[in-house]
Amino acid sequence: MKLGFIGLGIMGKPMVRNLLKAGHEVVVFDIMQENVAAVVADGAKAGTSAKDVAAQCRTIITMLPNSPHVKAVVCGENGISEGAEEGDILIDMSSIAPLVSQEIGAECEKLGVKMIDAPVSGGEPKAIDGTLSIMVGGDEAVFDRVKEDILLKMGASAVYCGGLGAGNTTKLSNQVIVALNIAALAEALMLAAKAKVDPALVLQAIQGGLAGSTVMNAKGPMMLAHNYIPGFKVDLHIKDLTNALETAHKVGAPVPLTAAVMEMLQTLHADGCGQDDHSALAKFYEKLTGTQIG
Ligand code: NAD
Repeated sequence: MKLGFIGLGIMGKPMVRNLLKAGHEVVVFDIMQENVAAVVADGAKAGTSAKDVAAQCRTIITMLPNSPHVKAVVCGENGISEGAEEGDILIDMSSIAPLVSQEIGAECEKLGVKMIDAPVSGGEPKAIDGTLSIMVGGDEAVFDRVKEDILLKMGASAVYCGGLGAGNTTKLSNQVIVALNIAALAEALMLAAKAKVDPALVLQAIQGGLAGSTVMNAKGPMMLAHNYIPGFKVDLHIKDLTNALETAHKVGAPVPLTAAVMEMLQTLHADGCGQDDHSALAKFYEKLTGTQIG
């Protein structure tokens, strides 16, 4: 199948490579030429704009940073809406605000373009392996059409979650749980450090119990080693929690813990740690106490 793909960053590049491996022809666009060149070297074809990609392909995928980028690429000048035809499918795999997904979907609907939101969890390693977890909102018949040949070529699972925006609501729930888990882990390891019990032994002792988690396994060793190479950046998590808080306020869901962890991430950002891995939440506690976890 001929597919369009717009947004060739950390995630987009390996996702394109997996679509190429699956035998698809992929026409790509990104404002960063080096990102285009990287996937063209692997067999993708370069488009000249989002409009050009849309004019060439009946199914278009976007993997962009946040809501304003997706809005601009879909509805803006030289955007997808200028090149799209009635019956086209738009799969937005970016993590954006669910209410913005619905707004963009309504604009697409006017042109007869069907949009689904399909954000992912798993990060770069799973994007490379083609084992992302994909959460989908929109028309279920469209989901069924793209699931096997497209989504499951980039992911190990693709779960239909409900109407348009439900994919991004699911992703926000994921990001709330991950952020709160990391903060809880940092807080608990600092308690141990201040009580003069080795945090490495604490981790070893509790990893197999009820407190054990994927977050603990992945982020605990990073905190002990003071290794904050991303992974998933503090600034990207601030973006997701901004969308989570905004959405929660609009739908009337109280999220006091999310608000507290957001302020901790904002403190790290203000302290020049925005590009660190989100496990740098440990540094927040280290600054407060003057004590090192690792
Ligand atoms: P990234 O910043 O590495 O890549 C985004 C790409 O979009 C860049 O290449 C940029 O040049 C391009 N872009 C921006 N504006 C554009 C425009 N107007 N036209 C064309 N291209 C444009 O981001 P990423 O890490 O690949 O993340 C993409 C999305 O996936 C984000 O919403 C992110 O939250 C989500 N996500 C990321 C991870 C991760 O670990 N990095 C994991 C899960 C989900």
